Amino acid sequence: MALLNFYGAIQQVTGSCYLIESRDGSRVLLECGMHQGYRDADERNRAAFPFDPGSLNAVVISHAHLDHSGLLPRLAAEGYRGPIYATVATCELMELMLLDAAHIQEHDTEWENKWRARVGKDPITPIYATADAERALELRRPLNYGARHEVAPGVRVTYHDAGHILGSSIVELEVDDHHLTRHLVFSGDLGNNCSPLMHDPSILSRADAVMLESTYGDRDHRCTPDTLDELAEILQQAHRDGGNVLIPAFAVGRTQDLIYHLGRFYQQGRLPQQAVFLDSPMAIRANAIYNRYIDQFNPEDRAALHAKGVKRIEEWLPILRCTPSPEDSMAINRIKSGAIIIAGSGMCTGGRIVHHFKHNIWRQECHLVFPGFQAKGTLGRAIVDGANSIKVLHQRFAVKAKVHTLGGFSAHAGQSELIDWVKHFDHRPELYLVHGELEKMLILQQVIKQRLDWTATIPEPGEQVVL
Ligand SMILES: [Zn+2]
Repeated sequence: MALLNFYGAIQQVTGSCYLIESRDGSRVLLECGMHQGYRDADERNRAAFPFDPGSLNAVVISHAHLDHSGLLPRLAAEGYRGPIYATVATCELMELMLLDAAHIQEHDTEWENKWRARVGKDPITPIYATADAERALELRRPLNYGARHEVAPGVRVTYHDAGHILGSSIVELEVDDHHLTRHLVFSGDLGNNCSPLMHDPSILSRADAVMLESTYGDRDHRCTPDTLDELAEILQQAHRDGGNVLIPAFAVGRTQDLIYHLGRFYQQGRLPQQAVFLDSPMAIRANAIYNRYIDQFNPEDRAALHAKGVKRIEEWLPILRCTPSPEDSMAINRIKSGAIIIAGSGMCTGGRIVHHFKHNIWRQECHLVFPGFQAKGTLGRAIVDGANSIKVLHQRFAVKAKVHTLGGFSAHAGQSELIDWVKHFDHRPELYLVHGELEKMLILQQVIKQRLDWTATIPEPGEQVVL
Protein backbone atom coordinates (compact mmCIF):
# COMPACT_ATOMS: atom_id res chain seq x y z
CA MET A 1 0.00 0.00 0.00
CA ALA A 2 1.01 3.61 -0.55
CA LEU A 3 1.80 5.78 2.45
CA LEU A 4 1.62 9.50 3.16
CA ASN A 5 3.76 10.99 5.91
CA PHE A 6 2.95 14.39 7.41
CA TYR A 7 6.28 15.91 8.37
CA GLY A 8 5.87 19.68 8.15
CA ALA A 9 3.33 22.54 8.11
CA ILE A 10 1.26 20.33 10.39
CA GLN A 11 -0.85 22.46 12.74
CA GLN A 12 1.27 25.42 11.68
CA VAL A 13 1.85 27.49 8.57
CA THR A 14 5.49 27.04 7.66
CA GLY A 15 7.91 24.18 6.99
CA SER A 16 5.76 22.31 4.43
CA CYS A 17 7.01 18.75 4.05
CA TYR A 18 5.25 15.50 3.14
CA LEU A 19 6.62 12.15 2.00
CA ILE A 20 4.79 9.76 -0.30
CA GLU A 21 5.96 6.16 -0.37
CA SER A 22 4.61 3.85 -3.05
CA ARG A 23 4.03 0.15 -2.59
CA ASP A 24 6.87 -0.55 -5.01
CA GLY A 25 9.34 1.50 -3.06
CA SER A 26 9.26 4.90 -4.82
CA ARG A 27 9.82 7.75 -2.40
CA VAL A 28 8.67 11.23 -3.42
CA LEU A 29 9.10 14.24 -1.21
CA LEU A 30 6.31 16.79 -1.62
CA GLU A 31 7.64 20.18 -0.49
CA CYS A 32 10.83 20.98 1.40
CA GLY A 33 9.89 24.16 3.22
CA MET A 34 11.65 26.27 5.76
CA HIS A 35 10.30 26.97 9.23
CA GLN A 36 9.79 30.67 9.72
CA GLY A 37 8.78 32.95 12.54
CA TYR A 38 8.65 30.56 15.50
CA ARG A 39 11.09 30.89 18.37
CA ASP A 40 12.55 27.47 17.56
CA ALA A 41 12.44 27.92 13.77
CA ASP A 42 16.23 27.99 13.48
CA GLU A 43 16.56 24.82 15.52
CA ARG A 44 13.96 23.06 13.39
CA ASN A 45 15.63 24.17 10.18
CA ARG A 46 18.84 22.60 11.43
CA ALA A 47 17.28 19.38 12.76
CA ALA A 48 17.93 16.13 10.89
CA PHE A 49 15.39 15.33 8.16
CA PRO A 50 12.99 12.59 9.29
CA PHE A 51 14.04 10.58 6.18
CA ASP A 52 17.29 9.80 4.40
CA PRO A 53 17.71 12.45 1.65
CA GLY A 54 19.70 9.97 -0.41
CA SER A 55 16.75 7.54 -0.43
CA LEU A 56 14.37 9.89 -2.30
CA ASN A 57 13.57 9.35 -5.97
CA ALA A 58 12.16 12.81 -6.60
CA VAL A 59 11.14 16.08 -4.98
CA VAL A 60 7.99 17.93 -6.01
CA ILE A 61 7.51 21.61 -5.09
CA SER A 62 4.18 23.48 -5.27
CA HIS A 63 5.51 27.04 -5.42
CA ALA A 64 8.55 29.17 -4.73
CA HIS A 65 7.75 30.65 -1.30
CA LEU A 66 10.46 29.65 1.15
CA ASP A 67 8.10 27.93 3.54
CA HIS A 68 7.56 25.45 0.67
CA SER A 69 10.99 25.32 -0.97
CA GLY A 70 13.48 26.90 1.46
CA LEU A 71 15.22 23.75 2.73
CA LEU A 72 16.06 22.37 -0.72
CA PRO A 73 19.69 23.56 -0.41
CA ARG A 74 20.05 21.60 2.82
CA LEU A 75 18.60 18.55 1.13
CA ALA A 76 21.23 18.90 -1.60
CA ALA A 77 23.95 19.48 0.99
CA GLU A 78 22.92 16.22 2.66
CA GLY A 79 23.33 14.19 -0.47
CA TYR A 80 20.13 14.48 -2.49
CA ARG A 81 20.97 14.34 -6.21
CA GLY A 82 17.62 13.47 -7.81
CA PRO A 83 15.30 15.75 -9.75
CA ILE A 84 13.42 18.68 -8.18
CA TYR A 85 10.17 19.25 -10.07
CA ALA A 86 8.31 22.57 -10.16
CA THR A 87 6.43 24.64 -12.72
CA VAL A 88 8.45 26.69 -15.21
CA ALA A 89 7.92 30.02 -13.44
CA THR A 90 8.47 28.45 -10.00
CA CYS A 91 11.85 27.18 -11.21
CA GLU A 92 12.82 30.77 -12.06
CA LEU A 93 11.49 32.23 -8.82
CA MET A 94 13.23 29.53 -6.77
CA GLU A 95 16.58 30.68 -8.10
CA LEU A 96 15.88 34.15 -6.76
CA MET A 97 14.52 32.95 -3.43
CA LEU A 98 17.06 30.22 -2.61
CA LEU A 99 20.13 32.28 -3.50
CA ASP A 100 18.75 35.16 -1.43
CA ALA A 101 17.99 32.85 1.50
CA ALA A 102 21.53 31.45 1.39
CA HIS A 103 22.96 34.94 1.25
CA ILE A 104 20.90 36.08 4.26
CA GLN A 105 22.01 33.06 6.28
CA GLU A 106 25.66 33.56 5.43
CA HIS A 107 25.40 37.22 6.34
CA ASP A 108 23.47 36.65 9.59
CA THR A 109 25.88 33.89 10.65
CA GLU A 110 28.85 36.15 10.07
CA TRP A 111 27.31 38.79 12.34
CA GLU A 112 26.29 36.28 14.95
CA ASN A 113 29.80 34.83 15.02
CA LYS A 114 31.36 38.23 15.61
CA TRP A 115 29.18 38.55 18.67
CA ARG A 116 29.84 34.96 19.78
CA ALA A 117 33.61 35.46 19.51
CA ARG A 118 33.40 38.41 21.87
CA VAL A 119 31.61 36.37 24.56
CA GLY A 120 33.82 33.32 24.06
CA LYS A 121 31.20 31.13 22.36
CA ASP A 122 31.93 28.67 19.55
CA PRO A 123 31.05 29.90 16.05
CA ILE A 124 27.98 28.53 14.28
CA THR A 125 27.64 27.62 10.62
CA PRO A 126 24.82 28.84 8.36
CA ILE A 127 21.93 26.41 7.77
CA TYR A 128 23.22 26.33 4.23
CA ALA A 129 25.50 28.32 1.97
CA THR A 130 25.29 29.73 -1.55
CA ALA A 131 27.09 26.68 -2.96
CA ASP A 132 24.37 24.42 -1.51
CA ALA A 133 21.64 26.57 -3.07
CA GLU A 134 23.44 26.40 -6.41
CA ARG A 135 23.69 22.63 -6.12
CA ALA A 136 19.93 22.37 -5.43
CA LEU A 137 19.10 24.70 -8.32
CA GLU A 138 20.99 22.44 -10.74
CA LEU A 139 18.49 19.69 -9.91
CA ARG A 140 15.43 21.68 -11.08
CA ARG A 141 13.19 20.09 -13.70
CA PRO A 142 10.53 22.53 -14.99
CA LEU A 143 7.08 21.20 -15.88
CA ASN A 144 4.21 22.99 -17.61
CA TYR A 145 0.77 23.24 -16.07
CA GLY A 146 -1.41 20.33 -17.13
CA ALA A 147 1.49 18.13 -18.27
CA ARG A 148 1.40 14.71 -16.61
CA HIS A 149 4.87 13.46 -15.83
CA GLU A 150 6.26 10.32 -14.21
CA VAL A 151 8.56 11.63 -11.48
CA ALA A 152 9.44 8.24 -10.00
CA PRO A 153 8.51 4.68 -10.97
CA GLY A 154 4.74 4.44 -10.52
CA VAL A 155 4.29 8.07 -9.40
CA ARG A 156 2.98 10.74 -11.79
CA VAL A 157 2.56 14.43 -11.14
CA THR A 158 0.34 17.03 -12.82
CA TYR A 159 0.51 20.70 -11.87
CA HIS A 160 -2.63 22.86 -11.91
CA ASP A 161 -2.72 26.62 -11.44
CA ALA A 162 -3.32 27.54 -7.77
CA GLY A 163 -3.60 31.29 -8.47
CA HIS A 164 -1.56 32.17 -5.36
CA ILE A 165 1.65 33.59 -6.84
CA LEU A 166 3.28 33.31 -10.25
CA GLY A 167 3.94 29.64 -11.00
CA SER A 168 2.02 28.40 -7.95
CA SER A 169 0.35 25.05 -8.24
CA ILE A 170 -2.10 22.55 -6.93
CA VAL A 171 -0.28 19.23 -7.11
CA GLU A 172 -2.06 16.14 -8.37
CA LEU A 173 -0.18 12.92 -7.68
CA GLU A 174 -1.10 9.52 -9.04
CA VAL A 175 0.51 6.69 -7.14
CA ASP A 176 0.34 3.15 -8.51
CA ASP A 177 -0.60 0.66 -5.86
CA HIS A 178 -0.70 -2.91 -7.14
CA HIS A 179 -3.26 -2.65 -9.97
CA LEU A 180 -4.95 0.40 -8.50
CA THR A 181 -3.98 4.02 -8.84
CA ARG A 182 -4.39 6.28 -5.82
CA HIS A 183 -4.99 9.97 -6.49
CA LEU A 184 -3.65 12.47 -4.01
CA VAL A 185 -4.37 16.17 -4.47
CA PHE A 186 -2.41 18.74 -2.49
CA SER A 187 -3.99 22.19 -2.63
CA GLY A 188 -0.64 23.96 -2.20
CA ASP A 189 -1.38 27.55 -1.18
CA LEU A 190 -4.70 28.44 -2.80
CA GLY A 191 -5.08 31.93 -4.21
CA ASN A 192 -7.76 34.40 -3.29
CA ASN A 193 -10.37 34.77 -6.05
CA CYS A 194 -10.24 38.54 -5.68
CA SER A 195 -6.48 39.04 -5.96
CA PRO A 196 -5.23 40.65 -9.16
CA LEU A 197 -2.95 39.26 -11.86
CA MET A 198 -3.40 35.58 -11.01
CA HIS A 199 -6.15 33.23 -12.20
CA ASP A 200 -8.69 31.70 -9.85
CA PRO A 201 -7.49 28.36 -8.46
CA SER A 202 -8.15 25.40 -10.78
CA ILE A 203 -11.03 23.16 -9.80
CA LEU A 204 -10.35 19.44 -9.49
CA SER A 205 -12.91 16.77 -8.79
CA ARG A 206 -11.09 13.47 -8.66
CA ALA A 207 -9.11 12.31 -5.63
CA ASP A 208 -8.82 9.54 -3.08
CA ALA A 209 -7.19 11.91 -0.63
CA VAL A 210 -6.97 15.70 -0.48
CA MET A 211 -4.59 17.82 1.57
CA LEU A 212 -6.14 21.24 2.05
CA GLU A 213 -4.28 24.32 3.26
CA SER A 214 -6.06 26.15 6.08
CA THR A 215 -4.12 29.40 6.59
CA TYR A 216 -7.40 31.33 6.76
CA GLY A 217 -9.58 28.42 7.83
CA ASP A 218 -11.25 30.56 10.48
CA ARG A 219 -12.51 33.50 8.45
CA ASP A 220 -13.39 35.14 5.20
CA HIS A 221 -11.59 38.10 3.77
CA ARG A 222 -13.49 41.20 2.97
CA CYS A 223 -13.90 41.42 -0.74
CA THR A 224 -11.37 43.41 -2.70
CA PRO A 225 -13.47 46.50 -3.56
CA ASP A 226 -14.04 47.17 0.17
CA THR A 227 -10.40 46.57 0.95
CA LEU A 228 -9.32 48.84 -1.87
CA ASP A 229 -11.61 51.61 -0.61
CA GLU A 230 -10.15 51.13 2.85
CA LEU A 231 -6.60 51.36 1.48
CA ALA A 232 -7.51 54.46 -0.55
CA GLU A 233 -8.94 56.04 2.63
CA ILE A 234 -5.77 55.20 4.63
CA LEU A 235 -3.64 56.81 1.91
CA GLN A 236 -5.83 59.94 2.00
CA GLN A 237 -5.61 60.04 5.81
CA ALA A 238 -1.82 59.65 5.72
CA HIS A 239 -1.68 62.50 3.24
CA ARG A 240 -3.75 64.71 5.58
CA ASP A 241 -1.65 63.62 8.58
CA GLY A 242 1.53 64.51 6.71
CA GLY A 243 3.30 61.19 7.27
CA ASN A 244 4.63 58.27 5.28
CA VAL A 245 2.91 54.96 4.69
CA LEU A 246 4.91 51.79 5.31
CA ILE A 247 3.80 48.52 3.76
CA PRO A 248 5.71 45.38 4.73
CA ALA A 249 5.18 42.97 1.87
CA PHE A 250 6.43 39.67 0.55
CA ALA A 251 8.69 40.22 -2.42
CA VAL A 252 6.94 37.63 -4.51
CA GLY A 253 3.21 37.94 -4.96
CA ARG A 254 2.02 40.60 -2.55
CA THR A 255 4.33 43.28 -3.91
CA GLN A 256 3.17 42.78 -7.49
CA ASP A 257 -0.48 42.86 -6.34
CA LEU A 258 0.16 46.13 -4.52
CA ILE A 259 1.83 47.69 -7.54
CA TYR A 260 -1.19 46.71 -9.59
CA HIS A 261 -3.67 48.22 -7.09
CA LEU A 262 -1.66 51.41 -6.54
CA GLY A 263 -1.34 51.79 -10.31
CA ARG A 264 -5.13 51.64 -10.56
CA PHE A 265 -5.44 54.34 -7.86
CA TYR A 266 -2.93 56.47 -9.71
CA GLN A 267 -4.92 56.23 -12.92
CA GLN A 268 -8.17 56.99 -11.07
CA GLY A 269 -6.59 60.04 -9.41
CA ARG A 270 -6.99 58.42 -5.99
CA LEU A 271 -3.31 58.40 -5.03
CA PRO A 272 -2.33 61.58 -3.16
CA GLN A 273 1.26 60.50 -2.48
CA GLN A 274 4.04 61.73 -4.76
CA ALA A 275 6.21 58.64 -4.68
CA VAL A 276 5.99 54.92 -4.11
CA PHE A 277 9.31 53.34 -3.21
CA LEU A 278 9.88 49.68 -3.85
CA ASP A 279 12.70 49.16 -1.38
CA SER A 280 13.40 45.49 -1.85
CA PRO A 281 16.10 44.17 -4.17
CA MET A 282 14.35 40.83 -4.20
CA ALA A 283 10.95 42.28 -5.13
CA ILE A 284 12.60 44.29 -7.90
CA ARG A 285 14.11 41.08 -9.29
CA ALA A 286 10.80 39.25 -8.81
CA ASN A 287 9.09 41.95 -10.91
CA ALA A 288 11.46 41.13 -13.74
CA ILE A 289 10.38 37.48 -13.59
CA TYR A 290 6.68 38.45 -13.42
CA ASN A 291 7.22 40.62 -16.48
CA ARG A 292 8.47 37.63 -18.45
CA TYR A 293 5.28 35.71 -17.65
CA ILE A 294 2.61 38.35 -18.25
CA ASP A 295 0.95 35.79 -20.53
CA GLN A 296 0.16 33.76 -17.38
CA PHE A 297 -1.81 36.62 -15.78
CA ASN A 298 -5.60 36.50 -15.80
CA PRO A 299 -7.19 37.82 -19.03
CA GLU A 300 -8.88 40.93 -17.52
CA ASP A 301 -5.76 42.33 -15.86
CA ARG A 302 -3.64 41.41 -18.85
CA ALA A 303 -6.06 43.35 -21.06
CA ALA A 304 -5.92 46.37 -18.69
CA LEU A 305 -2.10 46.39 -18.87
CA HIS A 306 -2.21 45.91 -22.63
CA ALA A 307 -4.67 48.80 -23.09
CA LYS A 308 -2.16 51.15 -21.45
CA GLY A 309 0.69 49.74 -23.50
CA VAL A 310 2.30 48.38 -20.33
CA LYS A 311 4.91 45.70 -20.93
CA ARG A 312 6.49 45.80 -17.46
CA ILE A 313 4.35 46.10 -14.34
CA GLU A 314 6.53 48.97 -13.13
CA GLU A 315 5.18 51.07 -16.02
CA TRP A 316 1.65 50.63 -14.67
CA LEU A 317 2.53 52.85 -11.67
CA PRO A 318 4.56 55.74 -13.11
CA ILE A 319 5.54 57.17 -9.68
CA LEU A 320 7.14 53.88 -8.64
CA ARG A 321 10.79 54.26 -7.73
CA CYS A 322 12.85 51.10 -7.31
CA THR A 323 15.74 51.39 -4.86
CA PRO A 324 17.96 48.34 -5.21
CA SER A 325 21.12 49.81 -3.70
CA PRO A 326 21.67 50.44 0.04
CA GLU A 327 22.47 54.11 -0.76
CA ASP A 328 19.14 54.61 -2.53
CA SER A 329 17.40 52.86 0.33
CA MET A 330 19.02 55.09 2.95
CA ALA A 331 18.13 58.19 0.97
CA ILE A 332 14.44 57.38 1.65
CA ASN A 333 15.10 58.09 5.36
CA ARG A 334 15.23 61.80 4.58
CA ILE A 335 11.65 61.81 3.31
CA LYS A 336 9.29 62.66 6.15
CA SER A 337 5.97 62.75 4.32
CA GLY A 338 4.20 61.93 1.09
CA ALA A 339 5.84 58.57 0.45
CA ILE A 340 4.58 55.02 0.32
CA ILE A 341 7.37 52.60 1.15
CA ILE A 342 6.95 48.94 0.24
CA ALA A 343 9.73 46.85 1.75
CA GLY A 344 10.48 43.32 2.90
CA SER A 345 10.18 41.28 4.88
CA GLY A 346 6.48 40.52 4.81
CA MET A 347 6.32 39.60 8.49
CA CYS A 348 8.95 42.15 9.55
CA THR A 349 11.39 39.44 10.65
CA GLY A 350 14.25 41.33 8.98
CA GLY A 351 14.96 43.09 5.74
CA ARG A 352 14.76 46.78 4.98
CA ILE A 353 11.34 47.35 6.54
CA VAL A 354 12.87 47.45 10.04
CA HIS A 355 15.08 50.36 8.98
CA HIS A 356 11.97 52.24 7.90
CA PHE A 357 10.38 51.41 11.27
CA LYS A 358 13.32 53.16 12.90
CA HIS A 359 12.51 56.37 11.04
CA ASN A 360 8.72 56.23 11.00
CA ILE A 361 7.04 53.91 13.48
CA TRP A 362 7.35 56.28 16.44
CA ARG A 363 5.73 59.14 14.49
CA GLN A 364 1.97 59.37 14.92
CA GLU A 365 1.46 60.99 11.52
CA CYS A 366 2.72 57.81 9.85
CA HIS A 367 0.67 54.79 8.89
CA LEU A 368 1.62 51.15 8.80
CA VAL A 369 -0.40 48.85 6.54
CA PHE A 370 -0.20 45.06 6.84
CA PRO A 371 -1.54 43.54 3.64
CA GLY A 372 -1.17 39.93 4.72
CA PHE A 373 -0.98 37.18 7.28
CA GLN A 374 1.35 37.69 10.23
CA ALA A 375 2.46 34.40 11.79
CA LYS A 376 2.68 33.92 15.54
CA GLY A 377 6.04 34.91 16.97
CA THR A 378 6.89 37.45 14.27
CA LEU A 379 7.45 41.15 14.82
CA GLY A 380 4.60 41.84 12.41
CA ARG A 381 2.22 39.82 14.55
CA ALA A 382 3.33 41.67 17.71
CA ILE A 383 2.56 45.02 16.05
CA VAL A 384 -0.79 43.83 14.70
CA ASP A 385 -1.64 42.53 18.18
CA GLY A 386 -1.08 46.03 19.57
CA ALA A 387 2.49 46.18 20.94
CA ASN A 388 3.17 49.63 22.45
CA SER A 389 6.80 49.45 21.53
CA ILE A 390 9.12 47.25 19.51
CA LYS A 391 12.83 46.51 19.57
CA VAL A 392 14.61 46.62 16.24
CA LEU A 393 18.24 47.26 15.33
CA HIS A 394 19.15 47.10 19.03
CA GLN A 395 16.88 50.02 19.91
CA ARG A 396 13.40 50.30 21.32
CA PHE A 397 10.81 52.41 19.49
CA ALA A 398 7.32 53.41 20.54
CA VAL A 399 4.60 52.32 18.12
CA LYS A 400 2.79 55.60 17.50
CA ALA A 401 2.07 55.16 13.81
CA LYS A 402 -1.46 54.02 13.00
CA VAL A 403 -1.58 50.30 12.31
CA HIS A 404 -3.98 48.81 9.73
CA THR A 405 -4.51 45.21 8.70
CA LEU A 406 -6.03 44.59 5.28
CA GLY A 407 -7.05 40.93 5.13
CA GLY A 408 -8.58 41.35 1.67
CA PHE A 409 -5.10 41.55 0.14
CA SER A 410 -4.24 38.08 1.21
CA ALA A 411 -2.84 35.85 -1.49
CA HIS A 412 -4.62 33.01 0.31
CA ALA A 413 -8.17 31.79 -0.06
CA GLY A 414 -10.49 32.68 2.81
CA GLN A 415 -12.69 30.14 4.59
CA SER A 416 -15.58 30.18 2.07
CA GLU A 417 -13.19 29.94 -0.85
CA LEU A 418 -11.46 26.93 0.73
CA ILE A 419 -14.84 25.26 1.15
CA ASP A 420 -15.94 26.21 -2.37
CA TRP A 421 -12.78 24.69 -3.76
CA VAL A 422 -12.88 21.46 -1.80
CA LYS A 423 -16.59 20.79 -2.31
CA HIS A 424 -15.99 19.97 -6.00
CA PHE A 425 -14.36 16.66 -5.17
CA ASP A 426 -16.61 13.71 -5.97
CA HIS A 427 -17.33 10.98 -3.44
CA ARG A 428 -15.88 12.71 -0.37
CA PRO A 429 -12.25 11.60 -0.45
CA GLU A 430 -10.14 11.48 2.70
CA LEU A 431 -9.56 15.10 3.67
CA TYR A 432 -6.54 16.27 5.63
CA LEU A 433 -6.12 19.81 6.86
CA VAL A 434 -2.56 21.10 6.65
CA HIS A 435 -0.74 24.45 6.58
CA GLY A 436 -2.67 26.28 9.30
CA GLU A 437 -2.58 27.10 12.98
CA LEU A 438 -4.49 24.55 15.04
CA GLU A 439 -7.23 26.95 16.28
CA LYS A 440 -7.99 27.92 12.67
CA MET A 441 -8.02 24.31 11.52
CA LEU A 442 -10.47 23.36 14.24
CA ILE A 443 -12.85 26.07 13.03
CA LEU A 444 -12.47 25.00 9.40
CA GLN A 445 -13.00 21.37 10.39
CA GLN A 446 -16.24 22.32 12.12
CA VAL A 447 -17.52 24.42 9.21
CA ILE A 448 -16.72 21.68 6.68
CA LYS A 449 -18.68 19.27 8.87
CA GLN A 450 -21.65 21.66 9.10
CA ARG A 451 -21.78 22.77 5.49
CA LEU A 452 -20.62 19.67 3.62
CA ASP A 453 -21.23 16.94 6.21
CA TRP A 454 -17.66 15.86 5.62
CA THR A 455 -15.21 14.95 8.37
CA ALA A 456 -11.75 16.42 7.85
CA THR A 457 -8.76 15.02 9.72
CA ILE A 458 -6.14 17.20 11.38
CA PRO A 459 -2.94 15.14 11.23
CA GLU A 460 -0.37 15.14 14.01
CA PRO A 461 3.25 15.99 13.17
CA GLY A 462 4.99 12.83 12.00
CA GLU A 463 1.74 10.94 11.47
CA GLN A 464 1.62 8.35 8.69
CA VAL A 465 -1.55 7.34 6.86
CA VAL A 466 -2.35 4.81 4.16
CA LEU A 467 -3.24 6.49 0.88
ZN1 LIG B 1 2.82 30.67 -0.45
